[in-house]
Amino acid sequence: MNSAPTPLNIESTLFCPRRSCPCYQSLENHITKDGTYTTKNDGVVRQMFNCGEGKHRFSETGYSDLFGKHGSFKEYEQVCKLGCYGLSADAIADVLLKDPRTIATWQRGVSKKANLFHDVICLSITLTVLFIQMDELWSFLRNKNNTLWVFVGFEVDSRFWLNFELGSRTTHTATQLVTRIKDYIGKLSRTMPLKVTTDKLAAYKTALQSVFTGHSDYVYLQIVKKRVKMRLVTVKKCFVKGTEDDFKGKTQNTSYIERFNLTLRQRVSYLQRKTLGYCKKKAHFTDTLWINLYDYNYRCPHKSLRQPLALPGVSRFQKKWTHRTPAMAMGLTQAALTWRFLFVMPISVTP
Ligand SMILES: [Zn+2]
Repeated sequence: MNSAPTPLNIESTLFCPRRSCPCYQSLENHITKDGTYTTKNDGVVRQMFNCGEGKHRFSETGYSDLFGKHGSFKEYEQVCKLGCYGLSADAIADVLLKDPRTIATWQRGVSKKANLFHDVICLSITLTVLFIQMDELWSFLRNKNNTLWVFVGFEVDSRFWLNFELGSRTTHTATQLVTRIKDYIGKLSRTMPLKVTTDKLAAYKTALQSVFTGHSDYVYLQIVKKRVKMRLVTVKKCFVKGTEDDFKGKTQNTSYIERFNLTLRQRVSYLQRKTLGYCKKKAHFTDTLWINLYDYNYRCPHKSLRQPLALPGVSRFQKKWTHRTPAMAMGLTQAALTWRFLFVMPISVTP
């Protein structure tokens, strides 16, 4: 058994990823490094491992659905990056000279891994969540008569994107989102009540009440904005649970999530406004969102999370900031992760 040095705050152990092997995912297995190789399409060196109990070798790509997909790591990475710059699968296929179906398959593989990764890491380390904002974004599915909503949950202090849910604008979708978030944060602490702010949609109130039933330790504020002809006229604060004293400082707003919505609209091709590029298939939408979630939470440093390096007499060319990703601010990772890390990270799947 060996664990490579990891930038994660959890231990990850190698296991055999081959389903047909008798010791599939067994942690009692002895896995050793066993040489490297390159493929016809990829000059980047890949690691081989030896499964001690099953007596066979396997490649590090076995740890994701990209196994046997015939692309290079560089291409997989390009697909992810272009997807996160707001390019649709067809556009990426055109740039990389591939079939759109190939791109969709690759995205599927990465998305599944990103989803698994996010769940595993958020469930192994109980998240310290003090302030959540939730909101929903509209989009379309197949045609413009069919509205699809993306519900998003966001932790303010670390700018961490907790989770999302696709569906209609109903209590059902909101409840699913709140349930997922509750799984991540575990039991609420008694000392500091969890702060929640949303817009005026009643679904959140019902969802919070049903999911956090029996817990009195959250406070909830609705921000009701009234617009006349697109112009903001009044902002009303409606303290559904708790009082004004519970929301101190700059917390009586939904500004953070609204800024985050802008980031999403910019980066997810299906969420761009005034285009015909809306989503034709819900699964593709989910895939793009998971890829973006990994990129946003784990890979990209967030500008407002940077910390000044306290050095006396800083010269002009000295490093002035340490940059942090939302996951680092949340205490889940110690460094910004890479795409390659996600592809080959061993995560066991619970059957
Ligand atoms: Zn094996």
